[in-house]
Amino acid sequence: MTNKLYYENPYLTNWTTEVTNIIKKDNHFLVTLAETAFYPEGGGQPSDTGLIENIKVLDVFQEAGEVYHKLPHPPENRVTECQIDWELRYDYMQQHTGQHLLSAICIDEYDAHTSSFHLGKDTVSIDLSVPEFRDDQLLHIENQVNKAIYENREINTYFVSKEKASSLPLRKMPDVEGDEMRIVEIEGIDTSACAGTHISRTGELGLMKLLKTEKSKGNTRVYFIFGGRALKDYQATHSTLTSLANQYSTNREGLLEKITKIEAENKQSQKEIEELKGQIHQFLAQELIQSHNGPVIIKTFEDKSLKELQGIAKQINESSNQCVIFTTTLENKLLISHNGSVPVQCGQLFKQELKKYHGKGGGNNTTAQAAFNNPIDLETFRSFLETKIKESI
Ligand SMILES: [Zn+2]
Repeated sequence: MTNKLYYENPYLTNWTTEVTNIIKKDNHFLVTLAETAFYPEGGGQPSDTGLIENIKVLDVFQEAGEVYHKLPHPPENRVTECQIDWELRYDYMQQHTGQHLLSAICIDEYDAHTSSFHLGKDTVSIDLSVPEFRDDQLLHIENQVNKAIYENREINTYFVSKEKASSLPLRKMPDVEGDEMRIVEIEGIDTSACAGTHISRTGELGLMKLLKTEKSKGNTRVYFIFGGRALKDYQATHSTLTSLANQYSTNREGLLEKITKIEAENKQSQKEIEELKGQIHQFLAQELIQSHNGPVIIKTFEDKSLKELQGIAKQINESSNQCVIFTTTLENKLLISHNGSVPVQCGQLFKQELKKYHGKGGGNNTTAQAAFNNPIDLETFRSFLETKIKESI
């Protein structure tokens, strides 16, 4: 059985050991070692990566007390150098130990028990047995956890018999195989059963930040970060806020006020633009009415959206009985519109004919619109529509 060095010393990164077996499986090799510090996946903590004789370890898992290291090709020497990816492992140790602390504080403060724990490369979360938290409660939890970090409390891990474990103030008794159980104890705060790797004092957690909460089947999922992840997050947040503040010629404190002011100005500008567009639409509508004597006004626009075409058509329909057929090559869209004086059911006609021209759209009795994939289909349908309308009048 593999001697598990990560239990004796979770800070061990490099060691020399003997290769005890190599099993070829599919395109990979499963290597067992006399001693290993590679942590196999378990207790919510992902497996380690690193090197065995400079060969990348792809995965680590445990079966019947033996730890298997998955490698792309086998090591050549019987005695070999091993190295774990310490940056990754230390991050897992911070998030994992932090979770113990956070879960304990949530029970102590709000009787909120942790039902599941997720530790991924990008996100860390726990599900808590309460339907929701208020913002002031979340802030309180955050402050209590960080207080325990500043107190730099000791964290001890040890094995006890199952019998002895029943006398410990464990949060819950886990279902483990064998006679022994591994305990992790945060001085004065928490005693839990756990097989993972942990840091040795709460001060190593550095900083904790709660990020967000989500409702999850009657529970609350809380996302958080500890240590290096919290530092990286603060660095990124600070960098973004500084850039934004510089861009708006203010400081962090003035940023919200500045953006609120700009949003209000934009809203006002948008209102003025809409008013001016309305005037332009009215002007264009009058010009089109005057320059078209027939019952149908046909016009192609190159720089207008369907929404603008609708604005112009509305103005025409209000003061003329002419039928409008507008197209826009900007969006490959078409609009037909009249004020009820033309005996054409626009929506119905589109429903019957549009598919033949690969168009999509619809409408009601007096107006309909359609979108096309290309200007040729658009133009062909427009031409069909023109003939159809002229025939019906
Ligand atoms: Zn643990």
